[in-house]
Formats: sequence, structure tokens, C-alpha cells
Amino acid sequence: MNSAGIFDVVVVGGGPAGATAAHDLARQGRTVALLDKAGRIKPCGGAIPPRAIRDFDIPNHLIVARINAARMISPTDKEVDMPVENGFVGMVDRDVFDEFLRVRAAEAGAERLTGSFEAVEHDADGVTVVTWTPKGAPDGTAPLRLRTRCVIGADGARSQVGKQTVKGAEKIPCVFAYHEIVEAPKGDEIAKYDARRCDVVYNGRYSPDFYSWIFPHGDKISIGTGSAHKGFSLRGSVGELRAATGMDQLKTIRREGAPIPLKPLKKWDNGRDVVLAGDAAGVVAPASGEGIYYAMLCGRLAADAAAEFVATGDSRALATARKRFMKAHGRVFWILGIMQYFWYSSDKRREKFVKICQDKDVQRLTWESYMNKELVRRDPMAHVRIFFKDLAHLFGFARA
Ligand SMILES: Cc1cc2nc3c(=O)[nH]c(=O)nc-3n(C[C@H](O)[C@H](O)[C@H](O)COP(=O)(O)OP(=O)(O)OC[C@H]3O[C@@H](n4cnc5c(N)ncnc54)[C@H](O)[C@@H]3O)c2cc1C
Repeated sequence: MNSAGIFDVVVVGGGPAGATAAHDLARQGRTVALLDKAGRIKPCGGAIPPRAIRDFDIPNHLIVARINAARMISPTDKEVDMPVENGFVGMVDRDVFDEFLRVRAAEAGAERLTGSFEAVEHDADGVTVVTWTPKGAPDGTAPLRLRTRCVIGADGARSQVGKQTVKGAEKIPCVFAYHEIVEAPKGDEIAKYDARRCDVVYNGRYSPDFYSWIFPHGDKISIGTGSAHKGFSLRGSVGELRAATGMDQLKTIRREGAPIPLKPLKKWDNGRDVVLAGDAAGVVAPASGEGIYYAMLCGRLAADAAAEFVATGDSRALATARKRFMKAHGRVFWILGIMQYFWYSSDKRREKFVKICQDKDVQRLTWESYMNKELVRRDPMAHVRIFFKDLAHLFGFARA
């Protein structure tokens, strides 16, 4: 902090979004505090694309498995394999991954604080204050105070920073996701398990409105599902999926769940001194639930926006984070939102969706846009072919 005891930026939340923001700001020479509530491993399938590994310098030792195919499984158990061409999908364990990012931010110069965010307030002189309670403080301890020029709220879905400061943040729609971490088989006792393949199950029995997954993680596996339907038993569904695949025999290490936001907020900043990033801003790709890469990118864009605001005093700079993100990814999010709405709404449609995945154009475009986060420009005709194939399926002209 400066000689008046004021940080340039306080980042609340040390997940992929917050740790990336704090790292970037510290490297730019800004004074930054990174506040995180320790003690809970973020429930997450942990799949990241090569673009994330590249853009955020993720070292090899954090990648616990390299995935070279996805198997799409339909309600009638039809299987379509989609081999990854030119690369792999990386799997990370979030306890190790998130801690690595926080340590990296601290090594770059961020002041790391462990405890719970309480409130954003303003002193009589107008300076922004973040109050927080250190981990392990006895009950009744008065919150500590951090004076700052700007706050980045990266405290995940159901963000407290968002609820307190940004209109609409209290009602981001969410899917609730749940998974079980189990010990991977040592031999080939589970016939259909492949340690280099992610299985994605589209079946109303396991999820009425999302999908279920089996993601290898080296010596562990994440088996999970998601749904926005209140009353649907996610735990029961994962139990059934494990029984159907023989994975009920494997030792369970952890059971955990968390909300996944479904829609980016219309506004990520409060027009004064706060900008949100990652799940706190509602930024997870619809249909896939992919959030790690997008959270890290949001963290980076929020850091740039905060740095500009601190340098110029112009709070309009805070809005650039959302503008830049939506310019790069708004179209893909929109398409994925429509896909989720349409293809995940009945087993008949899920069956057709898995069938479409047999198409080589669909496979290539899906992987290229997942891996590199860019809509493919090299072969515009592939988009046209997929568009017409999609329409044919949509209106039932194609044979299912
Ligand atoms: C079951 C499940 C499976 C998923 N699988 C995948 C996947 O395979 N691939 C993928 O890309 N995405 C996946 N996601 C989504 C992904 O996990 C999130 O989008 C991503 O973690 C968002 O990062 P974040 O930094 O915005 O938030 P988070 O990772 O949620 O981090 C928020 C941080 O804020 C801290 N915090 C919260 N409240 C406070 C407080 N009051 N005070 C201080 N600190 C606080 C928390 O300790 C945490 O460290 C999955 C999500 C779920 C729930």
C-alpha cells in the first residue's frame, strides 16, 4: 500500500479469476491485496483448454491428465467418440492449481490475506474500505479494514461483493453441479474407463437439463452432473451413473457441489470503485459449464480495467472489462446458450445432438473453438455446412 495506507486494488477471492487479477496487477507494479477464504477445495471437473495453459503460463506439473478424446453418450447409450486433434485437454486438481496461482500472485508482490470478506464501505473522506475477518479470529472480533482505490470482486458464484455493490448480481441464474471424486482403477477392471478420455453423458435420467460427466484426473476421477431443477437428486443421479458404469466399486474420496452461473451479468461494475470477475460476474460458458479459462481471462481484463481506473481516476474504465470480454466471447456464449436451451430439453433431442457429433465438421469446429477460443475462420464453409445440418435436425428433416 502507499504511504497513506491505501492499496491500489483489493481483490476479494483467490480462485482462478482473483489470483490472475492480483498476479497481473502486482506485475504491473500496483499495490494489491489478495483476500481469500481458505479451507475449501473448489468443486470442479478441472478441464482446461490449451489456450488457458498458453495464455496463463500453466506449468506442466499442474496437468494431472492429458485427454485425447471425448465420448458423447446418448440416452439410448449410443457412443460417439470425438478425438482431439493437435493437442490435448488438460486436467487440473483445483486444490493444487488454485494454490499455485495464489502463491504466484504473492511472489509477484501481492499481499496475501487469509480470511472472510465482510463489506465494501466508504470512509468519511470518500476512500473505499474493504472489511474482513481473518481466518481463526475469535467470535466477536471486530473486522479489519483495508483502504483501497478499487475492489475486484472475484469471490465466485453468489458473490457477496456483487450482492452488495452491483445491481442484478443477487439473481444470476445458476445450474447446481455436484461431483464425487473417486480413486481411479489401478488396472482394467472397469471395462469402459479410459484414463485419457472424458465421457460426457446426455441422458434425462442423469440430468433433465444439463449433462453428466466422467473426467479422469490421473489417480482420481471426477464423476458429476448438473441441473437447475429444484428437487432433482444430483447425488442420486451420480450414484446411478456410478452403478451403471461399475464405478460404484471405486473408493469415494470426496463428495461436493457448487452453483455454476448461467449468464454473464449485464453490468460487472458499480460505476464507482468495484468490478466483478469470473463466476461473480456470471461468466461460465452455457451448455459446457466451462469457467476456468473464462475466469482467468476476466481476472486479466478486470485487472487492466482497475489499473486504468487507478491511473486516470475515470471510473468509466471499469466497464471496459465486460466490453472487451463480450466482444471476444459474447457471440459464442449466445450460441452455446441457444444450444443448451434447444438440445438439452428432451431425450429425443439429446439423441439427435449426440448423432450430430458424429459429423467430422462438427467435431473439428467444436475442438478448434474449445481449444483455442476462436471461431474458426480458416474454413467458413464448415460453418455453413454445420448451420444447414443443425437446421435439418432442428426441423426433423435429417434422419435421427
Ligand atoms: C462441479 C463443477 C464442475 C466444474 N467443472 C469445470 C471444468 O471441468 N472446467 C471448467 O473450466 N470449469 C468448470 N467448472 C466451473 C469453474 O469451476 C468455475 O467457473 C471457476 O472456478 C470460476 O473461477 P472464479 O475464480 O471466478 O471463482 P471460484 O473458483 O469459485 O473462486 C472464488 C474464490 O473466492 C473465495 N471466496 C468466496 N467467498 C469469499 C469471502 N466471503 N471471502 C473471501 N474469499 C471468498 C473462495 O475461497 C474461492 O477461492 C465447474 C464448476 C462446478 C461447480
